[in-house]
Amino acid sequence: AAKAEGKGNFQFYAGAMSDALLHKLGIEQALRHAVKADEFLLHYQPRVDTRSGELRSMEALVRWQHPERGLVPPLEFISVAEDTGLIVELGALVLEKACSQLAEWRRMGLPLKPVSVNVSPRQFNSDNLVSTLTGALARHAIPADLVELEITESCMMSDTEKVSASLAKLKAIGVRISVDDFGTGYSSLSQLQQLDVDVLKVDRSFTRNLADGEQSQAFFMTIVSMAHILDMQVVAEGVETVEQLEILQDLSCNEVQGYLISKPVPANEAEQFLRKKLLFKAPGFLRLAAQN
Ligand code: C2E
Ligand code: MG
Ligand code: MG
Ligand code: MG
Repeated sequence: AAKAEGKGNFQFYAGAMSDALLHKLGIEQALRHAVKADEFLLHYQPRVDTRSGELRSMEALVRWQHPERGLVPPLEFISVAEDTGLIVELGALVLEKACSQLAEWRRMGLPLKPVSVNVSPRQFNSDNLVSTLTGALARHAIPADLVELEITESCMMSDTEKVSASLAKLKAIGVRISVDDFGTGYSSLSQLQQLDVDVLKVDRSFTRNLADGEQSQAFFMTIVSMAHILDMQVVAEGVETVEQLEILQDLSCNEVQGYLISKPVPANEAEQFLRKKLLFKAPGFLRLAAQN
């Protein structure tokens, strides 16, 4: 009976595997087509100064405009793109779109703010990244300091010497570098000290716990102090409540990003952020504005 059961389980497992595999192959094929057909677009989420609410930069987040399925979020296709290597092409497309959007905003006479672009591990480790980046910047005459590359903590901590060399090349171009999802990887203090990065983006999971108690706040405060010692700015991701914002103001976190301020929005809405200097009327910012 045990044997039969085992066999049954195996068949079930194999069936599930092939479903997953089929699903993945389907996505892969559709993705290849989508890259050729240029079915991707960028949404932008603002990052603002924690005290004043002033716009500091915007993060470009890719969406797939699927002809039948509508707008597909990145979590449904980035990992397949990463596994199949398609991410290198897709990533180049994203860089191109971000630079082209900056150029369009400049033509409209808007005051520009830096745009940050997510770079996947495979893209970061590819030899093309530097030339793709310099190509996109040059085609649209975008100064390198208007672009920031977000690289996840886990990607940065893989092989410190190799990563340092890659970062040095990118820094030489003049782009800014941030560590994305900080706190979810396993960086050691010595690794962090060796890496030439400008910004730590503290993962949403830490922001979420902030209102739970003093320990979470002390923990966040330690990250902020450490980052400031290393001459890095700190951004809190996933800020959803005024309470979280007010705690982050007390903790001297430099910038905040999250649904409290805005969800990621299409380019024509992001344009409105650039037009107004102090657009973010979240209660926590108003309180500060009233004090000044
Ligand atoms: P990420 O870079 O950490 O981006 C933050 C994600 O959290 C975004 O999801 C954003 O919409 C969401 N978010 C922002 N504020 C809040 C909040 O207050 N609450 C909650 N619950 N969520 C919030 P999105 O746009 O679905 O992107 C998911 C991930 O996909 C990104 O995480 C990034 O790792 C990846 N991704 C997005 N665009 C690209 C891209 O162009 N290239 C690569 N390689 N990865 C990308
Ligand atoms: Mg990011
Ligand atoms: Mg992030
Ligand atoms: Mg994240």
